[in-house]
Amino acid sequence: MTVTDKKKMLLAGTWVEKDETIDVYDPQDNSLITTVPKASRGDMLRAIEAAEEGAKIAASMPVHERVTIIERAASYIEMNREVYAETIASEGSKTITEARREVARCINTLRLSAEEASRIYGETIPFDQMPGHENRVGYYYRFPIGIIAAITPFNDPLNLVAHKIGPAIASGNAMIVKPATMTPLSALLLAEAFVEAGLPRNILSVITGSGSEVGDVLVSHPSIRMVSFTGGLETGTHIANKAGLKKLSMELGSNSPAIVLEDAHVEHAVESCVAGAFGAVGQNCLGVQRIFIDSSIYDSFVEKFVAETKKLKVGDKMDEATDMGPLISEAEAERVERIVEEAIEQGATLLTGGKRDGAFYEPTVLADVSPHATIVRDEIFGPVVSLFAIESLEEAVERANDVPFGLQAGIFTKNIAAAFHAIQHLEVGGIMINDSSDYRIDAMPFGGVKGSGLGREGVRYSILEMTDPKVVNFKLG
Ligand code: NAP
Repeated sequence: MTVTDKKKMLLAGTWVEKDETIDVYDPQDNSLITTVPKASRGDMLRAIEAAEEGAKIAASMPVHERVTIIERAASYIEMNREVYAETIASEGSKTITEARREVARCINTLRLSAEEASRIYGETIPFDQMPGHENRVGYYYRFPIGIIAAITPFNDPLNLVAHKIGPAIASGNAMIVKPATMTPLSALLLAEAFVEAGLPRNILSVITGSGSEVGDVLVSHPSIRMVSFTGGLETGTHIANKAGLKKLSMELGSNSPAIVLEDAHVEHAVESCVAGAFGAVGQNCLGVQRIFIDSSIYDSFVEKFVAETKKLKVGDKMDEATDMGPLISEAEAERVERIVEEAIEQGATLLTGGKRDGAFYEPTVLADVSPHATIVRDEIFGPVVSLFAIESLEEAVERANDVPFGLQAGIFTKNIAAAFHAIQHLEVGGIMINDSSDYRIDAMPFGGVKGSGLGREGVRYSILEMTDPKVVNFKLG
């Protein structure tokens, strides 16, 4: 095991080393990739102090300069795209093909941020709607809120960080990023792109360290005006309790449903749900976890779904022919294995998969799962999907809603009335008609209801969350 090129963290414009480090492993074979600094609470406080200066610099930066810097950062990533893709694939569990797609999306997210920087509009306000206010004119405009804390998960280690840094800089804010401990390298590479692009010091820090050790000091600090968090419900709830009086953006998990009605194009629904369930090894907040299938087509759907699942090639992440790599760690694969075994003990039928080898877990399909099983109620965040027969659309919607989450959902049907019923009654932040829940572009409002979160990301919508309106009123005469 050799440690190559020990990494530094970005503390207010300076690349900083620490004696204490965190090992970063490739989950595929547990080989050590490198180390990153293990930040202390003192480091976090230094980053916050510097960001106080950075927030002033960011807010006074003209929009054309923000645009230029973000565009340069996007171009830097584009020029080095293979390095970024290899970093995502080696520290995380995505295949190289999935990692290349994430890099392309990151470039797009940054270019959208550059575009949206020029579209942060206000409005005039008709004050004279109120009798006695005829001699008033005015407007509101949006101003940056100050310092934003960004805390990010392991599963999209580049693009989900770009979804926070891009809009923050576009809207004139300073930002401190705390990336996931298991995948800090992509976030550091993203910071490198902004340093190379000429971002003034103090506006951005990327602090590597354990969330449980340096998280509280960051989220509870009074100088932090907003916490933008993407991660699990439990961590998000902890952060919300610690944060106190500040803005919160919470992008949390789900156990997304798909509904397949009698008139659906079955082959298309199967293809779409297999991709949605097993992409990124099921470690995807939008991943399909529960499929409700009209009983009249249940048998044929199940047969085709299992056949398609069996075609998936599990193996080396760096091989372009591989469909599914390992989970993020052996411990995560063991957790998935335990939850599947528990469901089987409670009466579920294993249709395919169910075997673990280190951090690898086979794509797994279950039927006859108890509606009370953990695998149905909680987020599995692994390559497991449960199939259910339903007698009506109303039953499917009711069962789809009967969980504490609501991020996105999919329905497969040619019947417009059925689609509208689902649109009106599914408790989610987004509904895909004739596609699975696993659909997103970076420009759409994205987020959930219930335990899936608060607020919306998707560049323009993040910018709205990261700015506040300021009202200006002129009293005439
Ligand atoms: P996680 O365990 O909740 O961790 C997310 C981040 O929170 C990590 O950076 C973690 O740091 C940090 N953290 C942990 N404890 C903290 C504390 N006390 N204070 C502040 N920060 C703390 O989530 P994960 O396992 O990395 O990611 C998977 C989850 O993210 C799933 O639930 C998935 O659905 C969700 N997700 C949601 C979306 C969305 O947009 N809705 C997108 C992707 C993923 P350490 O790594 O150091 O512990």
